[in-house]
Amino acid sequence: VEAELMRAQRLESLSLLAAGLSHDLRNILQPLLIMPELLKARTPDPQLHHLADVIAECGRRGHEMAESMLSFVRGSRNTRERIQVAHLFEAIGLLLRSTLPAQVSLHLEVADPALAVDANYTELQQVLLNLALNAIQAMPDGGRLTLRAEADADPRGVERLRLSVNDEGVGMGPEVMGRLFNPFFTTKPNGTGLGLISCKRIIEGAKGSIQVASTPGVGSCFVLLLPIRAEVVEQAQPAQPVAAGTGQ
Ligand code: ADP
Repeated sequence: VEAELMRAQRLESLSLLAAGLSHDLRNILQPLLIMPELLKARTPDPQLHHLADVIAECGRRGHEMAESMLSFVRGSRNTRERIQVAHLFEAIGLLLRSTLPAQVSLHLEVADPALAVDANYTELQQVLLNLALNAIQAMPDGGRLTLRAEADADPRGVERLRLSVNDEGVGMGPEVMGRLFNPFFTTKPNGTGLGLISCKRIIEGAKGSIQVASTPGVGSCFVLLLPIRAEVVEQAQPAQPVAAGTGQ
């Protein structure tokens, strides 16, 4: 328990450090977004214009990186929208099919075409792609990759979305399972070990949770549970009864 606490504290201070750094970096880069335009206005020289454009582009990219680092360490504070799960799955299918190895077959299942969730689209897509890519990499000899979405409810009856990513890959033993969400833990020669911790941060930022089940040599299943209605969870209230709609 003590080691667990120490690790949580180390992670917390790392996040604080990263948040501070990316915040300052964003401010430092701010002038790079404006000044090149001011410089260009002062000279007709096309070569100087080109140099100013290059500087502005670097500034823009740095600014964007600082921005995404900040939202990563802060967890999910990005804007939420109503996402149609069927649309999300379509987009994911399109992206995955373009890189799918021939020996892996992809199955997308949406239990109810009307399924929807309040979440940040980019983040949720990133999480599912991360899990799907891990699953594909776990199946060098092929197999089925199944993404499934269905409705579910938490013990209080609050509506949840259950998303699962299932593979028939190498699976994980207890030593991998125990370290799965540690930052920088990877068993891949070119892995970063940041994929799952990033998924976890995003899902927990959205008041959801991640569960994992795995059997070595059989496969793994990652399950995401997300509140369907963001505001219900934020007010920590039980599910709102659906209005009867008397139309008065
Ligand atoms: P990375 O993919 O860069 O290694 P992750 O944080 O995404 O980083 O994953 C950490 C480790 O967890 C992987 O290196 C792998 O050992 C294990 N892992 C993740 N997903 C799966 C999976 N679907 N099947 C088997 N092992 C997995």
